[in-house]
Amino acid sequence: MKYWSEAAKRSTPYVPGEQFNDPTIMKLNTNENPYPPSPNVQEAIKQEMNEALHLYPSPTVDSLRESIAKQEGTEKESVFVGNGSDEVLAFAFMGLFSPTRTIRFPAITYSFYPVYANLFQIPYEEIPLMNNFTIDEKDFFHTKGGVILPNPNAPTSIFTSLEKLEAIIQHNPDNVVIIDEAYIDFAPESAVTLTHKYEQLLVVKTFSKSRSLAGLRVGYAIGHPNLIEALTRIKDSFNSYTIDRLAIVGAKAAMEDAAYLKETTWKIIQTRKWTQEQMEKRGFHVLPSATNFLFVQHPDYNGEQLYERLKAKKILIRHFRKSGIENYMRITIGTDKMMQQFLIVLDEIM
Ligand code: PMP
Repeated sequence: MKYWSEAAKRSTPYVPGEQFNDPTIMKLNTNENPYPPSPNVQEAIKQEMNEALHLYPSPTVDSLRESIAKQEGTEKESVFVGNGSDEVLAFAFMGLFSPTRTIRFPAITYSFYPVYANLFQIPYEEIPLMNNFTIDEKDFFHTKGGVILPNPNAPTSIFTSLEKLEAIIQHNPDNVVIIDEAYIDFAPESAVTLTHKYEQLLVVKTFSKSRSLAGLRVGYAIGHPNLIEALTRIKDSFNSYTIDRLAIVGAKAAMEDAAYLKETTWKIIQTRKWTQEQMEKRGFHVLPSATNFLFVQHPDYNGEQLYERLKAKKILIRHFRKSGIENYMRITIGTDKMMQQFLIVLDEIM
């Protein structure tokens, strides 16, 4: 006898990338940052551990929301925080999309979207990308129940211009449009500025990538206070204290160290450019990346083959099985030294 509810039967769980604590494995598979977080994070967490861990955290997370609002040029009432952007996205699917109205997202995109849609019974249409893996904005006009798009898209790494996004928002006046900006700090510009203009726009961001805090699990959303209220209602019906004390002070310290963010993202972008050139020299087709990873394909090798050969040499990358990208691989950008080592091993196995 399986005591499973309908929801448990319906769910098609997301499978996260392989995680290892083995320092002899080079992890280029889950788009983590190779640099440590700002040194201020450690200081803030140490102090909080010593002084306040016996107390519940603030359910309204005002201190972190104020800090995010200041950096993002908005008000605290327009900021929501959650336990990683995956959780923020879950609350957004529950609180802003509806089981009676069909949403749209690209057919090649972050694979958590269909998982949430199935779990929360939100009908969806998966829209094929164009031949060059870009989004045709017109495909997302006049939807019945809303849109969710990552920008830059994952795993393609391609950035969609704010003009195209704005057109999508304008052509969905009565529907929520969610832009998932997990990788935006490696890209030209954020859609947060548009949240002041369009009350149906929610922009979701994370501390996991550019701010090197994947292990702390903090994500946030920026949008009109009406949207934030809906997310807060869902959160408080689920677990008011989703963000713990260490996460609050750690994320706040990272948010306030703008110079460190600039320095580390700049380094990763330089390394990305160099790695792209090197891979093209070796015959790879590399999509134009605005992220901390490269989405690549080689005419003479399939993705699984290279994945297996690299894994045998203790380097982990991602390869895909989905139709349309079955020969593609996704490679996270590490430090210069890591990428040099990666290329040495690649030359050995090809
Ligand atoms: N959105 C996209 C597009 C992602 O690639 C990821 C990372 N897997 C996330 C959201 C979730 O990131 P996190 O939960 O670590 O904030």
